[in-house]
Amino acid sequence: MAVYKAPVRDMQFVLNEVFLADNLWQSMPDTEEVSGDVVEAILTEGAKIAENLLLPLNQSGDEVGCQFENGVVTTPAGFKEAYQQLADGGWVGLGGNPEFGGQGMPKMLTVLFEEMLYAANTAFTLYPILSAGFSLALNSHASQEIKQKYLPKMYSGQWAGTMCLTEPHAGSDLGIIRTKAIPNADGAYEITGTKIFITGGEHDLTENILHLVLAKLPDSPAGSKGISLFLVPKFFVNDDDSLGERNQVSCGSIEHKMGIKGSATCVVNFDGAIGWLVGEINQGLACMFTMMNYERLSIGIQGLGLGEIAYQSAASYAKERLQGRAVDGPKNPDKYADNLLVHPDVRRMLLSVRAYNEAGRAFAVYVGMQLDIAKFHPNETKREYAADLVALLTPIVKSFFTDKGLEMCIMSQQVLGGHGYVKEWGLEQFVRDARIAQIYEGTNGIQAMDLVGRKVFRNQGQYVELFLSEMKVLLSEIADDSSLQCFYSGLKSTIEICEKTTQQLIASAKKDPNYLGAVAVDYLNLLGLTSYAYMWTKMAKVALQQVDQDDTGFYQNKLIVGEFFIQRLLPQVYALQISIDSGSSAIMKMGDEAF
Ligand SMILES: Cc1cc2nc3c(=O)[nH]c(=O)nc-3n(C[C@H](O)[C@H](O)[C@H](O)COP(=O)(O)OP(=O)(O)OC[C@H]3O[C@@H](n4cnc5c(N)ncnc54)[C@H](O)[C@@H]3O)c2cc1C
Repeated sequence: MAVYKAPVRDMQFVLNEVFLADNLWQSMPDTEEVSGDVVEAILTEGAKIAENLLLPLNQSGDEVGCQFENGVVTTPAGFKEAYQQLADGGWVGLGGNPEFGGQGMPKMLTVLFEEMLYAANTAFTLYPILSAGFSLALNSHASQEIKQKYLPKMYSGQWAGTMCLTEPHAGSDLGIIRTKAIPNADGAYEITGTKIFITGGEHDLTENILHLVLAKLPDSPAGSKGISLFLVPKFFVNDDDSLGERNQVSCGSIEHKMGIKGSATCVVNFDGAIGWLVGEINQGLACMFTMMNYERLSIGIQGLGLGEIAYQSAASYAKERLQGRAVDGPKNPDKYADNLLVHPDVRRMLLSVRAYNEAGRAFAVYVGMQLDIAKFHPNETKREYAADLVALLTPIVKSFFTDKGLEMCIMSQQVLGGHGYVKEWGLEQFVRDARIAQIYEGTNGIQAMDLVGRKVFRNQGQYVELFLSEMKVLLSEIADDSSLQCFYSGLKSTIEICEKTTQQLIASAKKDPNYLGAVAVDYLNLLGLTSYAYMWTKMAKVALQQVDQDDTGFYQNKLIVGEFFIQRLLPQVYALQISIDSGSSAIMKMGDEAF
C-alpha cells in the first residue's frame, strides 16, 4: 500500500519561517485577514481531505477508470461523493474572488493544498483544479454580468469548468485551430468544431459543465492573432439560476490512456452550440493564458505531489525491507539481513528524491508569493517586479517540476526493486500518473522555447538578471557564515554559470536561428537547478538559526538534505553549461532522410 501523510510541518516551515508569509499578508489589504489560525486550519483540514477522503480512492479509481456510454461519462465509484464533500467544505473556491463567493486565499497557501490533493489522488484533483483555473480566467476577463451569473456556482463547486483548446490537427500550434464562432443578432455566438483531449469535458460530478472554448470568427486574421474565447455551458442557465435546456455540446468519446485514469479525457463536439464572448475579439489566446498560466503552476505541483507520495512510500518500504548487509558491519545482527537504508545507493536515491521535493515545495511557495504580490500588493513597482518574475518562472515550474516529478517517481520505484513494478505498493501508478504532466498544458519542450524566446531573449536577459540579483543579496547575507560555506560556494558558482550562459545565449541566438531551440531544454534545467540551489540556501540559513534549540532533528535534517543537494545534484549545472556552449551544430547536422 502507498504511504502518505501530508508534510504539514515542512509546509509550515516554508510558509512561516522561510518566506514569513504572515508579514507579507499583513502588508496587503486584500490578504490582511489571513491569520495564522486560518493557515493552520487549511493545512490540517486539507491534510485530512487528502489522507482520508482522496487517498482511499486513488488505486480503485485507477483500476476502474472513467466509463463512457451513449455520451455519458461515469467517474470511478466514490468520486462523486468525494467531490460533493470537497464542494460542501468550500474547497473548490479556496483561491476565488470573495465578491462572488470565493474564499480569497493567497496562492502561497493554496499551492500547498494543491500539493496534498495531487499527492493523494492526481486524477481526481484535475476536476477541481480546472474549475479553479476556469474561474480565474472568467474573473479576469469576463463581463460583470457573466461573472455574476456563473462564478458563484463555480466557486461553490456546483458547476465545473474546462479549457477547450486542442483539436485533432492543432496541439502546440493553436494558431491553426478550425473551430468557428458565428455571431448571432442577439450578441451571442454559434460555436462549431471538435475539440479533443479535453480534461473533464464530460462527467457526472456536477450538474452543469462550463467550457472555455477557443474559436475563430469568420473574418478574423490568420494565426494566433485571430483567436477569440467563448463561454459555452453544457446546460443553459435561466434568469433565476435554474438550469434550462441542453446546449449543442456533446461528448463523442473518452480516451483510453496510460495514467490519470479517473480523469475523463474527452472528445467534445460543438454543433452550433451557443456561447458568449469572454474578453475582446481576437484576444482569446491572451485571455486563455490567464487560465493556462495558473494551470501550468498547478500541473508543476502535480509532479511535486506525486514525487512526495512516491518518496514517502519508498522510504517506508526501505526501512522495512531486509536485504543484504551493511558493508561496514551488520546493523541488525539479530535478523537475517539489514534494511535497505544501509546501502549507500539506496540512500542516494531517497535523498535525491527528498532534496528535489523539498526544494520544489519551497519554490512553489516562492512563485505563489510572487503571484500574490503581483495581484495584491499596493505598491505598483513591487507588483511589476513580481509579475516579471512570474513570467520568467512559470515555464520553469511547469517543466522542471514535472520532469523531476516523473524522475522522482521512477527513482522511488527503483528503491522497491521488483515490488515497485507491481501494483501493490502504488509506485507503478505514480509513474504512469506523473508522465502526462510533461505533455499537457504545453509540452515541456514548448515551455523551454517560451523560456528562452519570450522570457529571456526578447528582454535581453532582464528578468534573469532580476532573479539572480535577488540570489546575490542572499549570498552577501551569508558570506561570512562558515557553517553555510557549502551553500555559499555552490550558489555563487551557479549564479556565475547562469550569467555567462545567458549572455552567450543572447549573443549566439542573434547569429544562429536554431540556437535557442537547440539549447532551450538544457537552459531551462540550468535555471531550474539554480532556483533549487537558491531555495536550499534560503532554507539552510533559517535552519541554521534554529538548529541548536531543536531536539526533533527537523532543522538538522534540513541542513543534511540541503548539503546533499549542493554536493551531489547541483554539479549537473557544469555539464549543462558545456552542453549549451556546444550550440546547435550537433543537433542540426544530420539530414531529415537519415532519421
Ligand atoms: C490526458 C490529456 C489531457 C489533456 N487535457 C487537455 C485539456 O483539458 N484541454 C486542452 O485543450 N488540451 C488538453 N490536452 C492536450 C495537450 O495540451 C496537448 O496534447 C499538448 O499541448 C501537445 O499537443 P499535441 O499532442 O498536438 O502535440 P504536438 O503539438 O503535435 O507536438 C508533438 C511534439 O513536437 C514538439 N513540438 C511541436 N511544436 C514545436 C515547436 N514549435 N518547437 C519545438 N517543439 C515542438 C512538442 O514538444 C512535442 O514533443 C490534453 C492531452 C492529454 C493527453
